[in-house]
Amino acid sequence: MREVRAVIFDWGGTLTPWHSFDYTAQWVAFATEVTTSDAEAAELSGRILAAEEVLWRQAREEHVSARVEELLEELGYGTGHPAYSRARSAYDRFWEPHTYTDPHVRPLWESLREQGIRVGVLSNTIWSREHHRAIFDRDGVLPLIDGDVYSSEIPWTKPHPEAFRAAAEAVDTDPADCVYVGDRVFEDVHGPQQVGMRAVLVPHSDIPTAQRVAVDARPDAVAQSLAEVAGIVHGWNRHAGG
Ligand SMILES: [Mg+2]
Repeated sequence: MREVRAVIFDWGGTLTPWHSFDYTAQWVAFATEVTTSDAEAAELSGRILAAEEVLWRQAREEHVSARVEELLEELGYGTGHPAYSRARSAYDRFWEPHTYTDPHVRPLWESLREQGIRVGVLSNTIWSREHHRAIFDRDGVLPLIDGDVYSSEIPWTKPHPEAFRAAAEAVDTDPADCVYVGDRVFEDVHGPQQVGMRAVLVPHSDIPTAQRVAVDARPDAVAQSLAEVAGIVHGWNRHAGG
């Protein structure tokens, strides 16, 4: 067995605990700032959500990436719209309580780095690199990241093999020496195993049925808590190289 030299993490439901909420509400927050009545806001938020669901379906079925700014631009509410900044701030405020980093992350990443292991992030997201890094910075873990890739900045989404190759390159490590940690079997277990990574499943997210893709993939390990990941990797490395 090869020595683990990097551990790369999924974001939503992995580094940040899974929250279930009404997906329409995020767009009501946005739409309220660019419309003049509740009825208009309800109509627009429904249209944005429908368009967003198309993007996520394409992400799942065709493994192509998307960006929130483009989604809004297509509907006439892009960054050039006079109320964009205000509306975007309302959307970001809606999301804020759902973005906090799991308290286990900092000690886990410190422990991995003490073992000489690099820390990476690979997220399927329509948000920008800057947006995600601001979240990590707010939570005090940004300096612990050796390399990060967000699907919004590459053509592919997980489980496309190229997304995982990009993440391995970001941490400057051969994919066969990387471990990927995530909460979805299709994206986060099947995906990384295609490029020779080992996969650790953290199976606590209540993922909506519509977002689940059936796949015959078995994780190399299951972590009931992020806190277990350092021990799993340490165990593998104790037996490595023989
Ligand atoms: Mg996830």
